[in-house]
Amino acid sequence: MPIYEPWHLVVLLLVLSPLERLVPLHPEQKLLRRRWLDDLVYFILNPLPITLIMAAVISLALPPLRSLLPAAVPATIAALPLWAQVPLALIVAEVGFYAMHRLFHAVPFLWRFHAVHHSIADLDWLASHRVHPLDQGLVAAASALPVLLLGFSDAAVAIWGASYFVQAHLIHSNVRLRLGWLEHVFASPHYHHWHHANGAAPANFGAQLVFLDQIFGTLLRPPAAPAAYGITEDVPAVMPLALLWPFTRPTPRPTSEIAE
Ligand SMILES: [Zn+2]
Ligand SMILES: [Zn+2]
Repeated sequence: MPIYEPWHLVVLLLVLSPLERLVPLHPEQKLLRRRWLDDLVYFILNPLPITLIMAAVISLALPPLRSLLPAAVPATIAALPLWAQVPLALIVAEVGFYAMHRLFHAVPFLWRFHAVHHSIADLDWLASHRVHPLDQGLVAAASALPVLLLGFSDAAVAIWGASYFVQAHLIHSNVRLRLGWLEHVFASPHYHHWHHANGAAPANFGAQLVFLDQIFGTLLRPPAAPAAYGITEDVPAVMPLALLWPFTRPTPRPTSEIAE
């Protein structure tokens, strides 16, 4: 899923970049904003290590997990029609994503890696690629593992993967786009921008759906958009230095003190 092809960049440039100009959430933010070149480097270099880490985790974890699961479970899911499999795949992927994402916020050593993503001060679709590959590889594996384990059809997995790709870019975009009642179900730009808000309580940990935040009381939905994004920690701007930073930085502060 994280391996991108050149046409992906073209589609994103043709669809999301114009949207960010037409209906910007923060109109003062330029297309070529601070650190756009650093984020382009992440966009180009990150997919390979992310995919390798994700594939390694899945190939190690899937066989033993499969041996524990009664065969009737994947057989039942595979027999469901596609219209039922797709929302079910979204839900089980969300469980893996939410759990791993919260872990990256709660465990100080893991936070070092996730802080790279939260160092974004100007949110747009390109900034979504500023992630440490170890963070994104593990989170992507945690999302994909239950989907692959439970035996969803190739078509359902493909639709889930494509919807994840589209939504991951959309929720980071600098767009003034509110989804009305759909925001009670789906993650929106407003929802994920509050996950990145500087100074707000840790909240909105979902990728595509908001039900786990509702269940665990981590949903944050103030009426206005955040005024500022980022964290106080000084994550290096250049990608290779940022990737080394989690291993070299001093003892981290507890995440409860960290602005999300
Ligand atoms: Zn986060
Ligand atoms: Zn994000």
